[in-house]
Amino acid sequence: INSKLPHVSTTIFTVMSDLAREHGAINLSQGFPSFSTDDHLKSLIKNAITNDHNQYAPMQGLLSIRVSLSNLIHNCYGAIYRPDDEICITAGATQAIFTAIQAIVHPGDEVIYFTPAYDCYEPAIQLAGGIPVPISMDVQNFAIDWDLVKQTISNKTVAIIINTPHNPSGTVMSKEDMLCLQKLVVDHGLICISDEVYEHIVFDDNKHMSAASFEGLKERSFIIGSFGKTYHITGWKTGYCVASKVLMKEFLKVHQYLVFCVNHPIQVALAEYLKTPKHYLELGAFYQRKRDLFLSLLKDSMFKFSPAQGSYFQLLDYSSITNEHDVSFAKRLTIENKIASIPISVFMSNDNTKKLRFCFAKKDDELIQAANILKAL
Ligand code: PMP
Ligand code: GLN
Repeated sequence: INSKLPHVSTTIFTVMSDLAREHGAINLSQGFPSFSTDDHLKSLIKNAITNDHNQYAPMQGLLSIRVSLSNLIHNCYGAIYRPDDEICITAGATQAIFTAIQAIVHPGDEVIYFTPAYDCYEPAIQLAGGIPVPISMDVQNFAIDWDLVKQTISNKTVAIIINTPHNPSGTVMSKEDMLCLQKLVVDHGLICISDEVYEHIVFDDNKHMSAASFEGLKERSFIIGSFGKTYHITGWKTGYCVASKVLMKEFLKVHQYLVFCVNHPIQVALAEYLKTPKHYLELGAFYQRKRDLFLSLLKDSMFKFSPAQGSYFQLLDYSSITNEHDVSFAKRLTIENKIASIPISVFMSNDNTKKLRFCFAKKDDELIQAANILKAL
């Protein structure tokens, strides 16, 4: 077969989660909560099914969930997105990202993104016939060199993908970053795809900077979120895209033929749940406590780290322990020490980072057990 993605193999998340299962390891690799979601949300979905919301939902998503989302975004970022023509409910952020890319990338168009990068961007660009243009972040602090971005923009560049809070580094973009991005996007007539799936998971004095809060960016951005991250329901695969009417019109042309619409009872349950804002408001403190629990136990370990500013991922630098390649060290830790993590070299071209990503969206006893094993290395 003439593969359209000859270099793609099984994702590292599947590889490491399978290895964790096979060896009975604590799974801090794939990013998903190991604890349960709210019983109230579970009962809402049961009601939605019992009350027969079991046929196709409207193509763009239920109006009630779009209205709730529009209010939520307005409360958080002061931005107005019209429920009728600027919001679409998607089958997770992954589908939203794929759809946005398909909607705007023509063959030969260049799309800039920053590495280490979440793994679904590159194949989506390639499947649209576009040319992926990765720019490396500084591997020490994961900062973006905006002068380099400016130099990299060509007359074929159509879009820049950003991700804040960032997977896998846990860094968040600053206001200055967003202003630099905005200037480039506006000056060069580009489109921004802003992956903000961890928008409500931000720690300490950091603040999430949404593209929605910057007028020039808002006009030219697809902003993508995931209910999975915010409500501990990654398996429900429900997310959304908001964008200006002009961009959303193109997005919907692809969406209606990719999935047409997404899971109806889940939308009914979430629409109701979103009316009570307390869950996402508590999320930062909830995960900050887990981050601090994990890191407090690693304080005197051989690992070096800067506490994550956001997301539910913590990088640990193991260069004082071994010189081993991160993929091989991550596999050995899983098999021999029963702790699974994600080697971050798979998200970038720099193969020599000596950093592993640990997901702390896990039960406290798992975090304690894992940290005690890591501390003994
Ligand atoms: N973007 C990033 C940065 C992610 O970490 C994830 C999920 N881990 C996604 C997108 C995909 O989200 P979803 O599961 O809603 O498709
Ligand atoms: N986004 C999750 C992570 O970063 C994994 C999702 C997946 O397995 N595709 O771990």
